[in-house]
Amino acid sequence: MAVGNAFLLQAGDCAESFDDFSAISIREKLRVILQMAVVLTYSIGVPVVKVGRIAGQFAKPRSAATELVDGTELPSFRGHIINAEAPTAAARVPDPERLVMAYHQSASTLNLLRAFTKGGFADLSRVHAWTQEFVASSPEGRRYEALANEIERALRFMRACGMDTESTAALHEVDVYTSHEALLVGYEEALTRQDSLTGAWYDCSAHMLWIGERTRQLDGAHVEFLRGVHNPIGVKLGPSATAEQVLDLCHVLNPARIPGRLTFITRMGAQNVEDAVRPLLRAARDAGHPVVWACDPMHGNTFTSATGRKTRHFEDILDEVAGFVRAHHAEGTWPGGVHVELTGHEVTECLGGADDIVDSMLDDR
Ligand code: PEP
Repeated sequence: MAVGNAFLLQAGDCAESFDDFSAISIREKLRVILQMAVVLTYSIGVPVVKVGRIAGQFAKPRSAATELVDGTELPSFRGHIINAEAPTAAARVPDPERLVMAYHQSASTLNLLRAFTKGGFADLSRVHAWTQEFVASSPEGRRYEALANEIERALRFMRACGMDTESTAALHEVDVYTSHEALLVGYEEALTRQDSLTGAWYDCSAHMLWIGERTRQLDGAHVEFLRGVHNPIGVKLGPSATAEQVLDLCHVLNPARIPGRLTFITRMGAQNVEDAVRPLLRAARDAGHPVVWACDPMHGNTFTSATGRKTRHFEDILDEVAGFVRAHHAEGTWPGGVHVELTGHEVTECLGGADDIVDSMLDDR
């Protein structure tokens, strides 16, 4: 992913919830990830490394400690691992028992993921079944159907040539890794273990952890903690990120320059993306740091709609990805991945898109 021979697909919930936890909801998320991954693999022609924002993505960073709900000032909702979203003072009190509940839900989610990815659901022969009914009849759904037909033909061709597709494990199961924002350093520390063979420390709460845009200070606790573990790690970079900060973060978080150790996830906003990303790409490239560059087209494009809902325009999401790819082509670097929020449910969270959703439809959820 750092040198151009793989692509990172990191995707999942904005935040996992204690209320929406079921095998069906996990299966539906996985279905979207498998569908996106097969489209990417087929179109880019390199392996796609699948990493869920899943099995631990509970805590939400907040820009403000309090919020106004119907004229009353309440502590902000910080994700189910900390408090509840009901608009009462009691619900917003942090409850340490929630850390334990989040841990148990993460462990169960991981078990289910393992069952789905190794037990037949991810078999490439089911490529047609990975599309959701509610998108199947849209133009995008039909394009997917055509691609799935081509993949089926390719599999038949391989079999006709005498290849043993039945016993090729890579065609029947996939690896899906887990990740979340390492926001609660105490929680992460409690799950950190030393590998008895190598002596290296690993944060075992997920395969990959990332540092958010609000907590990436070089002298902050999050950078200090994650520099000490050997997991692959990410750092979000918003529009204020500078080339100097990028080089400092490379130096502190990946001094040995191990490819794949450090992913920068840029989230600049569709308007700024090319101008904001290019100096950062140049800095890492010229200094020879083997960075994975991934595009988060979600968090720089959020706004509050006229009806008061936080939303994004689907076209802005596409524009940010396109600008990110153009920036890489211009600098001769590899656009190594995308980082997206998604759900397998039929909801109206983004404006535009296949159903051309408008503001008044956002309340339909
Ligand atoms: C997130 O990914 O959930 C998030 C809040 O991102 P950022 O740190 O980029 O704002």
